[in-house]
Amino acid sequence: MTGNGKGKTTAALGMALRAWGHGIPLFLIQFVKSDRATGEYAALERLGIEVRVAGLGFVPPRDDPRFEAHGRAAEEGLQIAAEVLRSGRYGLVILDELCYAVARGLVAEGAVLGLLEAADPSVTIVMTGRGATEGLIAAADTVSEVRSVKHGFDAGLKAKKGVEF
Ligand code: ATP
Ligand code: MG
Repeated sequence: MTGNGKGKTTAALGMALRAWGHGIPLFLIQFVKSDRATGEYAALERLGIEVRVAGLGFVPPRDDPRFEAHGRAAEEGLQIAAEVLRSGRYGLVILDELCYAVARGLVAEGAVLGLLEAADPSVTIVMTGRGATEGLIAAADTVSEVRSVKHGFDAGLKAKKGVEF
């Protein structure tokens, strides 16, 4: 799921719900994001779905001294993802915002492609985030681009509980 419109993460969460309903074991890693006080985090925990937050929030420019720490957090997320994907224990693994982490240079595209190659063949992998790179698009079976027609943010609306988080 990529593109500038709203709905990428929520679509992935919809897939999580669908898999959970079938009793399929799943794991969700949120890259870039740092907030555990979201509705999805609470819901996933309550459903007994394994979830990790592996980000530090708003990504600074590459020349900002804080950028490196964001890169390290993303790398840690990748390590977790590598183990989870290789384990063969999960039918669905969601790597939320990983496309965006690659687009912003927090992790190398090649590292993600390596992860996909090493994954257990039975696992379905979902990645979300703006600016999916050509290599990630080529590696995927299905790619949806969510196009923004309009967003309340541009009219000054604030992020709303239960809608944005
Ligand atoms: P959601 O989590 O609501 O499914 P998303 O995953 O598609 O959104 P991201 O790029 O991950 O979108 O951005 C997350 C946040 O940015 C959400 O709060 C979302 O409402 C907001 N957002 C999404 N698209 C836009 C846009 N075109 N302009 C401003 N804010 C946006
Ligand atoms: Mg998102």
